[in-house]
Amino acid sequence: MLNSTLKELAVELAAKRVSSVELTGYFLKRINGLGKTLNAFISVDEERSLALARAADAVRAQGQAGPLTGIPIAHKDIFCAKGWLTTCASKILSNFVAPYDAHVIECFNKSGAVIAGKTNMDEFAMGSSNETSYYGPVKNPWDLAAVPGGSSGGSAAAVAARLTPAATGTDTGGSIRQPAALSGICGLKPTYGVVSRYGMIAFASSLDQAGPFAKTAEDLALMMNVMSGFDARDSTSLDRERENYTRNLAKPLRGLRIGLPAEFFAEGMQPDVAKAIDAAIADFRQLGCETVEVSLPNMKLSVPVYYVLAPAEASSNLSRFDGVRYGYRAAEYTDLADMYRKTRGQGFGAEVKRRILIGTYVLSHGYYDAYYLQAQKLRRLIAQDFVEAFKKCDVIMGPTTPTTAFNIGEKAGDPVQMYLSDIYTIAVNLAGLPGMSIPAGFGAKDHPVGLQLIGNYFDEARMLNVAHQYQQTTDWHLRMPQGIA
Ligand code: GLN
Repeated sequence: MLNSTLKELAVELAAKRVSSVELTGYFLKRINGLGKTLNAFISVDEERSLALARAADAVRAQGQAGPLTGIPIAHKDIFCAKGWLTTCASKILSNFVAPYDAHVIECFNKSGAVIAGKTNMDEFAMGSSNETSYYGPVKNPWDLAAVPGGSSGGSAAAVAARLTPAATGTDTGGSIRQPAALSGICGLKPTYGVVSRYGMIAFASSLDQAGPFAKTAEDLALMMNVMSGFDARDSTSLDRERENYTRNLAKPLRGLRIGLPAEFFAEGMQPDVAKAIDAAIADFRQLGCETVEVSLPNMKLSVPVYYVLAPAEASSNLSRFDGVRYGYRAAEYTDLADMYRKTRGQGFGAEVKRRILIGTYVLSHGYYDAYYLQAQKLRRLIAQDFVEAFKKCDVIMGPTTPTTAFNIGEKAGDPVQMYLSDIYTIAVNLAGLPGMSIPAGFGAKDHPVGLQLIGNYFDEARMLNVAHQYQQTTDWHLRMPQGIA
């Protein structure tokens, strides 16, 4: 069971060789053992999970099971799940029990999947290493001294360490792809608007998008079939016909045009990462793909543009945490203004405060035109670069991250270094495009390397096809960290 895919587990469950209660019990044991060492989870509730498993077994007994019925899946602690503590890894929400389900949770519940627990993350999804969590850093299962990536580090570590067969995450500037790369698993950020943000605690609403983590591209497709779709409660949810994301998996890749952006392969990439990425691209040529050079000339502006826009949106979104409606409230204060000040001062961590200050500054009168408006214009140019690039190719490839997993503490004191670890992922969010990361070998210290695929709008099914075909001829995605069994 340890290394089984969702697809394989579904077969076992259907054949009644294992029940959901047994499967859930097996993974809960791992979560409570190795999961503790890795600090991958914020909330585990065995009773609730097992009750869901019993319900899934009952549904199956009635002959109504779907592909994910009875399979335990971990959810990033950014998704509200009714009756579950939902903290967003912040002290300010450390006592918040969600009174309703996020759309994503609702979808998985309807599919009969079991909630395996809520995973650790960077506070309010702000970070690239999972070190800003109020609950402490998550460790990388491949090297306990290293970070798993962030902000969805707990979900990535959980799948990498086989604590759950799959997990959910969110990606505002790279938080699914970057931890997937650093933890040696697959992760997909869909086209903006494909997965509803309802009940997903907001960081930067024009960029935030939920997506799946799993071991294989095929499993990502199964998860997308469950979590995508229109939802009237999110005003940016797209009303499109439902897709079957597995429909293209078997297509041969002959003739596929892969765009290689010159800017991705310029300076900045660690040599071991470059070597693995070059080897992966050579594998795709073997599969009959052509490569063409493309250019994303404005990509170099994506980090500064993002660090104006994302904090601007965050400063507005996080104004709701005031100690009045829900969450933490300071114990002692003199008047209302003092209560706000103390609650927010004590409730938010340093990185969140930094973002609120930057965001408030760039939105303030006198600076708005110089920063916020200018960044919005550049965002359009960055998106336009991709429109041009996709005239020449079907899918773009490059590294997900410039380095492999770095050590806990190594970049924590240097925000700019930390921000640069998303240099290859952020432009995709600014453009609203789909992106994914798949395992593509190992670098120095045997740390995993991630290959990034970027697709045109709504081209997830093709990206999954490309990744699936690669996974038919390579086995990087099936490798497991040592010592986790
Ligand atoms: N690392 C980026 C940030 O800190 C992106 C985070 C994310 O995608 N949620 O904002």
